[in-house]
Amino acid sequence: MLSLNQEVGAWDTVLLDPLTEDSFIGNLQQRFKRDHIYTYIGNVLVSINPYRKLALYSADLVESYVKKPPFQLPPHIYGVAESAYRWLNDKSENQCIIVTGESGAGKTEAARIVLQFLVLVSGESPEVKTINDRLLQANTLLEAFGNAKTMKNDNASRFGKFLDIEFDFRGDPIGGHLTNYFLDKARVTNLGLHDRNFHIFYQLLSGADIHLLKCLKLQRNAEQYAILQTESNHPTVTEDDDKKLFVYTKGALEILGFSPSDIVDIFRVLAVILKLGNLQFVPCNNIDGTDGCTISNDYELFEVCELLLADNRWIQRILISKQIEDGVLTDLSAIEATKVKDTLCRTLYSRLFTWLINRINDSIKSKSLGKRKFLGVLDLYGFECFNTNSFEQLIINYCNEKLHQFMINICVKEEQEGMIKEGLEWTKIEYFNNLAICQLLEHENHGILSLLEEPHIQTDDEYFTRLEQCCSGHTHCLIDEVNTPNCFQIRHFAGTVTYKIKTFIEKNRDKLPKEHSRTMFKCELKIMQELFPEGNPRRCSVKRPVSKASQIQVSLNALLKNLGNRQNHYIRCIKPNETKQPKLFEMPLVQHQVRYMCLLSTVQIWRSGYCQKMPFLQFLCRYKMICPHTWPKWRGSPIEGVSVLIRGLPIPSAEFTFGRTKLFIRSPRTVFELEDFRKKR
Ligand code: ADP
Ligand code: MG
Repeated sequence: MLSLNQEVGAWDTVLLDPLTEDSFIGNLQQRFKRDHIYTYIGNVLVSINPYRKLALYSADLVESYVKKPPFQLPPHIYGVAESAYRWLNDKSENQCIIVTGESGAGKTEAARIVLQFLVLVSGESPEVKTINDRLLQANTLLEAFGNAKTMKNDNASRFGKFLDIEFDFRGDPIGGHLTNYFLDKARVTNLGLHDRNFHIFYQLLSGADIHLLKCLKLQRNAEQYAILQTESNHPTVTEDDDKKLFVYTKGALEILGFSPSDIVDIFRVLAVILKLGNLQFVPCNNIDGTDGCTISNDYELFEVCELLLADNRWIQRILISKQIEDGVLTDLSAIEATKVKDTLCRTLYSRLFTWLINRINDSIKSKSLGKRKFLGVLDLYGFECFNTNSFEQLIINYCNEKLHQFMINICVKEEQEGMIKEGLEWTKIEYFNNLAICQLLEHENHGILSLLEEPHIQTDDEYFTRLEQCCSGHTHCLIDEVNTPNCFQIRHFAGTVTYKIKTFIEKNRDKLPKEHSRTMFKCELKIMQELFPEGNPRRCSVKRPVSKASQIQVSLNALLKNLGNRQNHYIRCIKPNETKQPKLFEMPLVQHQVRYMCLLSTVQIWRSGYCQKMPFLQFLCRYKMICPHTWPKWRGSPIEGVSVLIRGLPIPSAEFTFGRTKLFIRSPRTVFELEDFRKKR
């Protein structure tokens, strides 16, 4: 159990003296050694992954955090969640908890703990219980379908997630909405050496009873399936876990309102993917001398068709031939057919994932029309750098750059500029601004992502040539054809990453041939019509398919705009070592993260800065009720009113500073004290 009184090092690094990078990291290390994995920088929480279960979470502890005024208890995720929840209720301002850090640093765990906190503090009516249950189960389900083991993390989220929870005026959750950002579907057919595919495949194979397996025409053994194989196959997630988790996943589906036939349909799609993945194509020569191919293990194809309730000629046709114009077919080579099969597997999986999210959203949608408030939890993927990096890593790292830019803008740049504008004394703090990298990526005419969209670029080689023309001189971009051919490097805020260009164009377009959609839609398995609605011949759709890069840019910008209108809280997760070991604090690794997350600048800002600023009139309107001299109507100027008001308060005057138009408040504690006075009136 976390001792609430025990003090190790400084809880809040704002109080650290002297403040240097060494003292900052030393403090984190000293605390980490004693299992104090959380430390504040003002109201930003730094969390270091302990890589083992600690007795830090319980309903009793949640209660302590709710009862005590904020920031009087040791740093904890509960403290951050409580503060967001309190703001939501006191000020009716939408809130967001932004969790960041690299893969394996503990973001998803942190987001889960926030959710558990919110569930514990909200009411106990049956309606609230139902919605809370669904929110928790949505997490379980997403983890099964969206997470996988990677080299960095045994339970890595392979999608970005923003869970926005709606609350009513009592502060009870009444619904929610999930947004998913870019599922790494490439892994369905391409696994890295130490990777596994999405958890659900293994869960299904170990957890399904023999009847279900038989009905899905599957065999228990994961080794039977090509898409589950890697060169090393040494599982750290054991079959027992998979089996146990399958029970939870199935339970989650049920609680979220999926009918038994929905559930079987979902499993059928998974079985189809596993079996399609096994198909082998062998070259053959056509009579006219052209290359073609046949399927050597066509019993798998028959079973795929039985599962899809489809005619096997239809499926065979789209796998080994291609329509060049209406009704005219040309044969595919074995290599081409293999590519088509892989694309189909990935498409089936990603469509299934999106379909699940839509269904979850239907299930957690609020039915109330009254005034609502939102508290969101953002768990985007962390910065990634593997031995080989492709389009997926570029998109993931682009998201990280944008989020980093958003945070420095809010936490550092705007703070700093705001104070200068208000005429406050201020020593300029140096920080690394990654604006140039964001521009390198998304500049309208020659950004790395924008070039992908140029209509005349059809191949990876053409893309590479354009990249060389447009970006080679950029300080954050390096193209070295001699040492790293067909690659480009970006010096990201969190480190340099080398990207291999092969398959970029195809992955970005992400186009599915019309005849594939049509064929999938024609299958009698009910879910297929929902997965491939564009295949409906009666639906006339002329919409141009949107590329992956532009899709993510649009959704990310919308998200950041939304967050710009909220009060944000930050949890910054740090990974203490690369080997997932408890008790091991690797100094250079931590130092690297502390540097690129600008944590030291954050402390400096907090030390010289203020946690809240409010225009004089707004402050006066909100708090005049706590002072007899300003209540009910203050007749002088707002600035004088504020001055009278705070003189009458039992709070040290050093807590307040007057700017030109705004009052600045130093510590969060003061803000909460003011709120308490207000409530007691
Ligand atoms: P991320 O989402 O940042 O990639 P995760 O949240 O999935 O990282 O954490 C990776 C792993 O580290 C988890 O599966 C868990 O084993 C461990 N872990 C993370 N946070 C904690 C914590 N607070 N307590 C115990 N273990 C943790
Ligand atoms: Mg995660």
